Amino acid sequence: MRPRTLLAFVLGLVLLVTGCGGPGKTPQRVTAQPSVSAAPTPTPSPKPQPSRTTPKPKPKPTLRPLPKKLPTGLHRRSGSPGVALTFDDGPDPRYTPQILAQLRAAHVTATFCLVGKQAKRYPHLVAQIVREGHQLCNHSWRHDVDLGRRPAAEIRADLERTNRAIRAAAPDAPITWFRQPGGRWTAEELTVARQLGLRPLHWSVDPQDWDHPPAKKIIARVESAAHHGSVVLMHDAGGDRTQTMAACRRLIPDLKRRYGIVRLR
Ligand SMILES: [Zn+2]
Repeated sequence: MRPRTLLAFVLGLVLLVTGCGGPGKTPQRVTAQPSVSAAPTPTPSPKPQPSRTTPKPKPKPTLRPLPKKLPTGLHRRSGSPGVALTFDDGPDPRYTPQILAQLRAAHVTATFCLVGKQAKRYPHLVAQIVREGHQLCNHSWRHDVDLGRRPAAEIRADLERTNRAIRAAAPDAPITWFRQPGGRWTAEELTVARQLGLRPLHWSVDPQDWDHPPAKKIIARVESAAHHGSVVLMHDAGGDRTQTMAACRRLIPDLKRRYGIVRLR
């Protein structure tokens, strides 16, 4: 090969390998596309991150199945002819003092099912609940609706942690009850609760106040379902409880007059 022919050949090779129109353009378009489509979002670089993490999610803990029927041994009755009131998910700085004031004015007591995290955050409210003569119920550390489906050791750790937070605020107060969030009980959970000296508290009247029905509806639901020995479930935390507070202004005197409001036994 003559030098000039060789040069032309080499140049042609270089062009073929590096500058080849087609393949060269395609990667450019590919790289350009994300930056165009990513333009409205702040930066294109975090975009691949989720896809890098999604293929390997943390292994989900295996949860035991929920039983088709609630396990036996749940307390759904007040234990006497009167009605027992229970308030779940607190303490809450906005609503717990309101319901405490209502109960105080009516000279009746209730049972407060406390969430451990909330008790740790608002110990003065736990102390006030106890000071004003109400009963205490453990309602799990973080309102875990699947707690009953977890390994027994996890259930135990959760209930003990919640008890510790309550006791830190009210050292001498007895914690008599445990209520599984959402009422999603399992037999294994009842066993753990009993081992810790906690009695499983369910309910018999649920006005579903967590779903924010108007006060009128909460009143109607409770008054049509309540009878002697009922355990009424309501909430003083976990969302906007304005309607529950309004309903209780009517319900507490009404239930007291009709059945009496009693301590759980
Ligand atoms: Zn709850």
